[in-house]
Amino acid sequence: MYSNSSSYGNGYLQRHPVSTSASRRGGGGSRRGRRSSRIGGDGLESRVSEQSKPPRCTEFDMAYFQSYSHVGIHEEMIKDRVRTETYRAAIMQNQHFIAGKVVVDVGCGTGILSIFCALAGAKRVYAIDASEIAVQANEVVKANNLSDKVIVLLGRVEDVEIEEEVDVIISEWMGYMLLYESMLGSVITARDRWLKPGGIILPSHATLYMAPVTHPDRYGESIDFWRNVYGIDMSPMLPLAKQCAFEEPSVEAITGENILTWPYVVKYVDCYTVTIQELESITARYRFTSMMRAPLHGFAFWFDVEFSGPAIFQNNGYALSPPGSVTSSDTYSPGSGQKKKRVKSNEALILSTAPEDPPTHWQQTLLYFYDPIEVQQDQIIEGSITLTQSKENPRFLNIHLEYSSGGRSFVKESVMR
Ligand code: SAH
Repeated sequence: MYSNSSSYGNGYLQRHPVSTSASRRGGGGSRRGRRSSRIGGDGLESRVSEQSKPPRCTEFDMAYFQSYSHVGIHEEMIKDRVRTETYRAAIMQNQHFIAGKVVVDVGCGTGILSIFCALAGAKRVYAIDASEIAVQANEVVKANNLSDKVIVLLGRVEDVEIEEEVDVIISEWMGYMLLYESMLGSVITARDRWLKPGGIILPSHATLYMAPVTHPDRYGESIDFWRNVYGIDMSPMLPLAKQCAFEEPSVEAITGENILTWPYVVKYVDCYTVTIQELESITARYRFTSMMRAPLHGFAFWFDVEFSGPAIFQNNGYALSPPGSVTSSDTYSPGSGQKKKRVKSNEALILSTAPEDPPTHWQQTLLYFYDPIEVQQDQIIEGSITLTQSKENPRFLNIHLEYSSGGRSFVKESVMR
């Protein structure tokens, strides 16, 4: 799907893939139901609970978990130093809260975050993953002599049983455009099942941004290219080229130079209070004033997550950022020229995927128009964006974009699949 994505041999995309194409498991339902398996030194131990009913584990879920059993996807995430080192720093920053406490790692993958927590002094870490990668995580835990502290559970967070409440939830759940792959719902489930009152969630908050983008190089390479190919007018290719290049969202890296003005907050998520229902469909209205004259090619989306400890969470003085234009106290403040830097009023660590920050494997997600719009300096660009979990596969994202500028209005529908 994405021009610069790697695949892992089964048609899945890089990080956080949710393609529905056949699971190698061949459609078997081995993890269906409320079955969880503890992987321990004594072998496999299964526990089945008959209590409240979790959501059904669908074929889509199984394909999704299957995609996480490949080493490449974990290698890519772990090699993303911005990501992994920010998580480690957040764990160390909250060490006083983690030491001697019980932690659950929602989607442990290879176990790296669980091990960081154990090394930070956690009394016990439940490392949960529904992908077979959990088997590897258990081996890694053993190799590091941490089996007495880290309990690896193979199963869905929705299904596994743990017999105590936890002080800390840690999870790396973010997909492209923050919400793609819908893993945040599983963090919410873990919170509602196990988090003690006063416990902490890392990361604690997340923000999805959008900003108008000019990208003449990209448009030139994919579209204008056809106007003159070895001296031949191949412009009849233009409609197809536009459709193929811009029908779907594109994950690619842009720079601050591509951004026409300050970003807008599409969604602010407080992980302590967000609900699963709230994430089913999100609509935000936006209004930008272009800071320059340029062809507007579409919109870029990116996110950041914040690791606030409990003190900040409980402090009512914490600057919550409501949906709407970002404010100087809590997000972007104008710097010189195009450069924008996030300024925080507290000490919270931020993992940012913004174009002006060091690159991550998430890059940015671009929604291109089929045809650019020429905007003047100070021209208004306004409309709305709706992100809805697809009915076809809740891990897909339906994107409904409305935009108008200079008296013309447009609608673009796309699916991130
Ligand atoms: N924590 C690891 C892996 C993050 S990727 C790291 O930071 O490197 C997300 C992982 O969550 C994947 O391995 C995926 O299989 C797992 N996952 C997603 N939803 C889950 C769920 N509902 N229950 C259990 N595991 C889940």
